[in-house]
Parts: sequence; structure tokens; C-alpha cells
Amino acid sequence: MKIDILTLFPEMFTGVLSSSILGKAADKQLVSFRTVNFRDYSGNKHGQVDDTPYGGGGGMVLKPDPIFRAVEDLLSSEDKETTTKPSRVILLCPQGKPYEQKDAEELAKEDHLIFICGHYEGYDERIRQHLVTDEYSIGDYVLTGGELPAMVMIDSIVRLQKGALGNESSAVTDSYSTGLLEYPHYTRPPEFRQWKVPDVLLSGHHGNISKWRVKESLRRTLQRRPDLLEKYPLTDEMKKMLKELQEEL
Ligand code: SAM
Repeated sequence: MKIDILTLFPEMFTGVLSSSILGKAADKQLVSFRTVNFRDYSGNKHGQVDDTPYGGGGGMVLKPDPIFRAVEDLLSSEDKETTTKPSRVILLCPQGKPYEQKDAEELAKEDHLIFICGHYEGYDERIRQHLVTDEYSIGDYVLTGGELPAMVMIDSIVRLQKGALGNESSAVTDSYSTGLLEYPHYTRPPEFRQWKVPDVLLSGHHGNISKWRVKESLRRTLQRRPDLLEKYPLTDEMKKMLKELQEEL
């Protein structure tokens, strides 16, 4: 997978893309990262990439030309022999589709992603209308720029690449991957400051452990994100567990 990032602040990515799972995925050549400063495409000696909004008002707007030219350059340098799928051009934007785990799973299957990080008041609307394939928001709040949202999305996508995580199964049981919140975890010691690990987890009985995990996953989801249960295809056994949990509350 190739990931290109268009940003005015490439230095913000240095630590994140070279550390932990992302750094290891790049070392293993599961992914390659490129940061492109679209100021290099400004076409003027001052490197100006923004301008005042038509119609007046505060803030500066990113001009279309530098961003169009930077993306077109990246697309034309794509090796058509090795790339089968069309590139996805992703605009980070608080007005975009709310980003979820299922979007990460879908984007993780692509060959080439281009992220456009905005700044200032926003983008010229023609970028949104005629250049991008997707618009994503990472939450209902406004950040200074698209760099942190791009990092959030890239992390969630790269950790799903085969071979990126030390333990492949951990991504499968993660919260939201299953459609529910994950069950609680415990590790040694079995007793810490008089708080004990649930007996079932020390029993070695795999059947009972998996039942406990399913029930605790349901409990956590019921307590914290009951909306997820409405969309989840519950089995009869899960419905029974859920009824017991609702009676306990
Ligand atoms: N005026 C814009 C609006 O009201 O929609 C907000 C612009 S914001 C200050 C500057 C840039 O930060 C945006 O263009 C976008 O790239 C990024 N950004 C801010 N919040 C974001 C969010 N929640 N999700 C994704 N990107 C965000």
C-alpha cells in the first residue's frame, strides 16, 4: 500500500510515521509513506497557497491550483503496471462522513491513498467537488488542521495490513471490529491490592472463558454504547445473556 500525504506541515508526521506499528510496517515494506508539501506547487515565488474568501469574511481559503497540481502529479507518477485499483483521494474535513472502523477496514484494502490536510478557514469548494473521492471527519469538533486527523486515519488503516500487528487476532476482537465493545482484559498478578481476576479466566476452561467474554462484551456495550446493540445480529444465546444483563441493571 502507498500512502501520500499533502500537507503544509510535513514535519508533524516524522515521529508518527516512523514509530511503533506504523514504523515497523514501513520497515517491513507493507506500506510506504510520502509527505508532500503542497506549498511546492504554489506556482509563485512567495509560496502562497491561500487567499481571502470571495464575498468577504474572516480567514483564508486554500486555493485550488496547488492542491490540484500536487494530486495530479502524484497520480501521474503512479505505476499503472503494478497498481490495479484507482487511487482514493481523501479530504480531511469536519463536514465529512464520520470516520468509523468499517471505513478503516474498507480503505485498508486499497493500493494507494492520498490524504489532503487542510488548514485555515478551509478549501476552495472546487477541490471538494472535482478532485476528491472521499471526505472524512474524525469527530464533531474542529481542529487547526487535517494533519492529526490524517494520522488517526492512517494509523487505523495500517494496523489492519496483514503482518502489521504482532498478533493478527487482536485486531479481529478489537472494539468496533466485531460490532461490539471488547470484553475487559486482565494480566498477572491474579490478585492486586485485594482485587482479584475473575475465577473463570484462571480456570483454563476455554468454553467458559469464551462465554464469559461474550457476556462481558455485551455488558460493556449495553452500559456504554447501547446504540451498537441495535445494529448487531445477536444470536439466541446472546439475546438470553442480554436479558440477564438487563435484569441485573
Ligand atoms: N471552517 C471549517 C469548517 O467550519 O468546516 C473548519 C476549518 S479547520 C480550522 C481547518 C482544517 O482542519 C480543515 O480544513 C480540515 O482539514 C481539518 N479539520 C479540522 N477538524 C477536523 C475534523 N474534525 N475532522 C477532519 N479534519 C478536520
